[in-house]
Amino acid sequence: MRNGKQYVESLKDNRTIYIGGERVKDVTTHPAFAGIVNTFSKMYDMSADPANGMTYTTEDGTVANKMFMIPRSREDLAARREAMYKWAEATCGFAGRSPDHVASFLAGFASHPEVFGDRAKYVIDFYKYARDNDLFVTYVIIPPQIDRSKAANEQEEKFLPVGVYEEREDGIVVRGSQMLGTSSAVSNYLFCSCITPLRPGDEDYAISFVVPMDAPGLKLYARPSFAADKPSTFDYPLSTQYDESDSLVVFEDVFIPWEHVFVYKDIEATRAQFHGTPAHVLGNNQAQTRLSAKLKFVIGVARKVTEMNGTDKFPQVQERLGELASQAAMVEGMLMASEYQCSIDKNGVARPNARYLYGVVGMQDTIYSSVIRILRELVGGGVLQVPSSYKEMINPETKDDMRKYIRSSTGAKGEEKVKLFKLAWDIIGSEFGGRHQQYEMFYNGAPFVVKGYSFRNYGYGEPVAIVDRFLASYGLPGNETAKTEKEIEVG
Ligand SMILES: Cc1cc2nc3c(=O)[nH]c(=O)nc-3n(C[C@H](O)[C@H](O)[C@H](O)COP(=O)(O)OP(=O)(O)OC[C@H]3O[C@@H](n4cnc5c(N)ncnc54)[C@H](O)[C@@H]3O)c2cc1C
Repeated sequence: MRNGKQYVESLKDNRTIYIGGERVKDVTTHPAFAGIVNTFSKMYDMSADPANGMTYTTEDGTVANKMFMIPRSREDLAARREAMYKWAEATCGFAGRSPDHVASFLAGFASHPEVFGDRAKYVIDFYKYARDNDLFVTYVIIPPQIDRSKAANEQEEKFLPVGVYEEREDGIVVRGSQMLGTSSAVSNYLFCSCITPLRPGDEDYAISFVVPMDAPGLKLYARPSFAADKPSTFDYPLSTQYDESDSLVVFEDVFIPWEHVFVYKDIEATRAQFHGTPAHVLGNNQAQTRLSAKLKFVIGVARKVTEMNGTDKFPQVQERLGELASQAAMVEGMLMASEYQCSIDKNGVARPNARYLYGVVGMQDTIYSSVIRILRELVGGGVLQVPSSYKEMINPETKDDMRKYIRSSTGAKGEEKVKLFKLAWDIIGSEFGGRHQQYEMFYNGAPFVVKGYSFRNYGYGEPVAIVDRFLASYGLPGNETAKTEKEIEVG
């Protein structure tokens, strides 16, 4: 188990990140990344502290972070969730790509090594290496947005999405790009593959591999920082601490040794690594654990805002708060149901129930948009009557006005109200807040993709059979064709 200091030290390498037209010299101190590095560092301190119960004894007898656990029972799933929830709470659910996300995928891969054929040993070896060194792995598994109507091999140039440029005796050279590396700038390794369906002819793109962040030729182009230009954490508490950064990742002839290649020119294995192993369900189990923590935090802010403004006494406001409560409870309930109704697969792995897991995954963009809309409605213009920065709160010329006019009849001081409403704005209106609405809508694929998961995993046989039974129970008047239960079952 490594602590926060060791995590920070691990980032001081020769990685190539560009932001604002310049190469980042030290990601741990650069203003765009220092806030999130500090946050993840505190999280590693948390998991390293035995008092927090975030470790487990591995199948090899070593002690590791529970994020790497291969769950073998319902109890294991619960233990994993409780540890991940502690981390999610540490960022109020606002760090989507904390280290436990891809760790869950790696555990899923390693639990079904047969999917990787003769490359299985490499998958297990890397999983154990990451687990035993408590590494932070992120991923890029989506081709860049260029022409979504065309297959990888039909794009204008051969290496726009990442693909195999050269095969060597000791490994492969990859060239191209992939989106969208959240937290990659502050991680140790990158997992790269393609989760969008590949077609015959796309074999050069049907790969998966891991690569250290300082590999020669690996370049990250980060989007604008939402942390760097902010006056203080008081003004933007989420932006300054939890902006994970997202990056376009470019592979300029990056060498990948064979032991880091999990899938090689195999369209079926590229798909099966996600869906033929428990990787996707375990990754989404982590994602819903985080979402549950986030929704609790957001509805807590809603409740406090209405108390502060005295609107919580209005029945109409209680109705809106009730709707928020229902949405948060639904996500938490579906997470619990998927865990409770888990099944043990042929390799002895406990898989969260897909009906409930993907049921909530499919509704996530709708739920989060709705929660944000209701919070907007409840805060009104209060989020914009706050001063431009904390400085008005301390400047002798302005501080009295601030305290007199930005106040609450609850007895809360002016700065408490400003603090709360600035937090609400960081959720609903800042660039960070806007990015989070985009994140919840897209991080798992576009809405039509996630609803497709729900469609495929619900198990429509059961509801269709119910309707068939009902339809078979009556007929045309005068020509009753009602069948017995037994006849219906026989067909
Ligand atoms: C903030 C953020 C962080 C992310 N982090 C990561 C990360 O760390 N790693 C990672 O791998 N991915 C990450 N993603 C997800 C990923 O990069 C994509 O956003 C996601 O897979 C959807 O692809 P896209 O954005 O290109 O949207 P598109 O696939 O282009 O879809 C956009 C819209 O186009 C339409 N459309 C596109 N294709 C079709 C089609 N075939 N049929 C019908 N309609 C279609 C739909 O209206 C769709 O909503 C992140 C996304 C966001 C927004």
